[in-house]
Amino acid sequence: MITPAYVVDEKLLTRNLEILAEIQQSTGAKILLAQKCFSAFYFYPLIKKFLAGTAASGLYEARLAAEYFGGENHVYAPAYKAEEIAELAQICDHVIFNSFAQVEKFAQYVKSAGLRINPEHSTQKISIYDPCAENSRLGVRIDEFKSARLDLIEKLDGLHFHTLCEQNSDALEETVDAVEEKFGAYLHKMKWLNLGGGHHITRKNYDIERLKKIIRRLQETYGVEIYLEPGEAVALDAGFLVAQILEIQPARNGISNAIIDASAACHMPDVLEMPYRPEIIGAAEVGVKNFSYRFGGATCLAGDVIGEYSFDKPLSAGDEIIFRDMAIYTMVKNNTFNGAKLPAIYAKNLRGDLTLIKNFGYDDFKNRLS
Ligand SMILES: *Cc1c(COP(=O)(O)O)cnc(C)c1O
Repeated sequence: MITPAYVVDEKLLTRNLEILAEIQQSTGAKILLAQKCFSAFYFYPLIKKFLAGTAASGLYEARLAAEYFGGENHVYAPAYKAEEIAELAQICDHVIFNSFAQVEKFAQYVKSAGLRINPEHSTQKISIYDPCAENSRLGVRIDEFKSARLDLIEKLDGLHFHTLCEQNSDALEETVDAVEEKFGAYLHKMKWLNLGGGHHITRKNYDIERLKKIIRRLQETYGVEIYLEPGEAVALDAGFLVAQILEIQPARNGISNAIIDASAACHMPDVLEMPYRPEIIGAAEVGVKNFSYRFGGATCLAGDVIGEYSFDKPLSAGDEIIFRDMAIYTMVKNNTFNGAKLPAIYAKNLRGDLTLIKNFGYDDFKNRLS
């Protein structure tokens, strides 16, 4: 097997998709794949069997969905360029704007125009992931909405909010309360309401029944079609990053550095950005098992450290290690800092067979530079 490599497991992906499809069937809500989280288009035909469509963050993602998915195509961006609108209008079913100024400029061209609202109700502490944080540029607040021109409000078919990140349906419930309190009067005039992403639906302790109740109540109260656009929930725990140990250094301060051919900075940037410690198959916290290592990438960045782990047996150069939950926010965020090789991508099908679907090389590094 080529390393480093992502392996996306269709069985695990299908398990998530079945959960999402059941929610669609039992509530009539539509669920879209947020492509910014997972754009491995090889799997779009499989995902399309279960989900209604895709949500894009801009023209290129929308185009990818038009080429490889072919379901409902929705797009939201904090602002659009005039030269993008003709193509977006052609390929997207919903175009969601972030201001009344953008609605005024562009809504006339699109099939169904929506506006992202900001309910000003934070349910999380990490401000980089909180669109309701102070001074956020994301979504229109109720004071602006109330003073907007009536003819611009009348151009809207729907409202959209996205405020959650890896959260349960209790956070959604609070948020919906805030949305209804502030925007309820306007919702009665809309055709659809998009509840954004950040719903960790396929996580074990997610309360799906509460989600369904919220959806049904919104449908009944406002007569709107409900959309959800999760990214993480679609491919949560459905992929792995396989890496090889290149060298084990002598212990420093009691723990050895293991240098691997995958990098946090290049191949799992959320490890540094969130930050979090990804799980490795067969490993435990430091000190739990007998042999402990600190894993780092083969880049120049001192902080390119993935985490500290312990194992039952000593590790050595050439050993493979497998990181869990590496399908989401990985391939889409990769970079070639230091000229690092991009990980290959394998699909593991329902029978367990591995297929190499993409390998990368020197040209992929070079073609982004000049
Ligand atoms: C990030 C994002 C999503 C998907 O979020 P997940 O946390 O991956 O579920 C959906 N909609 C919008 C507008 C987003 O910015």
